[in-house]
Amino acid sequence: MEVIHFPDGTSVPALGQGTWHMGEDPTQRADELAALHAGLDLGLSLLDTAEMYGDGAAERLVGEAIRGRRAQVFLVSKAYPHHASRQQLPRACDASLQRLGTDYLDLYLLHWRGRVPLAETVEAMERLVAAGTIRRWGVSNLDTADMQELVAAGGGACATDQVLYNLTRRGPEHDLLPWLAAHRMPVMAYSPVEQGRLLTHRALQHVAARLGVTPAQAALAWVLHRGQVLAIPKTGRVAHVQENRAAADLRLSAADLAELDAAFPRPGQRQPLAML
Ligand code: NDP
Repeated sequence: MEVIHFPDGTSVPALGQGTWHMGEDPTQRADELAALHAGLDLGLSLLDTAEMYGDGAAERLVGEAIRGRRAQVFLVSKAYPHHASRQQLPRACDASLQRLGTDYLDLYLLHWRGRVPLAETVEAMERLVAAGTIRRWGVSNLDTADMQELVAAGGGACATDQVLYNLTRRGPEHDLLPWLAAHRMPVMAYSPVEQGRLLTHRALQHVAARLGVTPAQAALAWVLHRGQVLAIPKTGRVAHVQENRAAADLRLSAADLAELDAAFPRPGQRQPLAML
């Protein structure tokens, strides 16, 4: 599988696993755990979660999934903006670690921008790095101007920006993705299959059928094709994890890309960053 490099040289496989809405329904729990385990067995070692998801339920599920195999996992969690202050961030991080049953995060993200000044969040993140509680930090849902402000506020060590990016959400291609590439920060693409809504699109189905793959696989291959983009699809089913893993090896041809470009054109002008 392709690997993605963080600015500090650490690399991770380009396909990871999302967890939003997992751990919330007890009747789904066994399937969700099986899916996360299958993903880890297949090399999808990056697990993305957040204190927000199910009010801690997703982190607890991930904690259960990684028990006994922590070293094999690249663990990502996120803090609410109202927890991103000097005082609150260490507490929020500790609570996440407790739910996750571990003593460090590989990556800790500011979930979206709130009222706490970016400089204060940077300072709080750097303290967690110095304490060894987190290995590195990043942000989510920050647009280009926010990223510029972040770096100006001392946040040059930011590892990534996790944003909404898929065939129907190509706005970041205008300036955010080039800006991140110029700063050697990989992008984490969330909702890479638009929470499933993309999968019934006729043009995507057409390309997928020609390639003999599923629409989800074609959509994931598209997200991954430009490089330095990590995709974190969520699935609670082993069969879908296997399908998604295979998508990471799929190469789209110039003709496939042209057909997808025609059906899902890049917006003609810059758009504010969308979020879900
Ligand atoms: P996704 O685009 O990953 O879509 C998830 C949906 O797609 C689920 O309903 C899943 O169903 C289905 N699915 C996954 N794989 C397949 C497949 N191979 N075939 C058919 N259906 C499939 O949406 P998410 O919003 O969950 O985004 C992914 C992750 O990104 C989140 O879980 C979260 O970790 C992160 N995220 C971050 C945000 C942020 O603000 N930073 C915002 C939103 C998401 P099933 O389970 O039945 O397979």
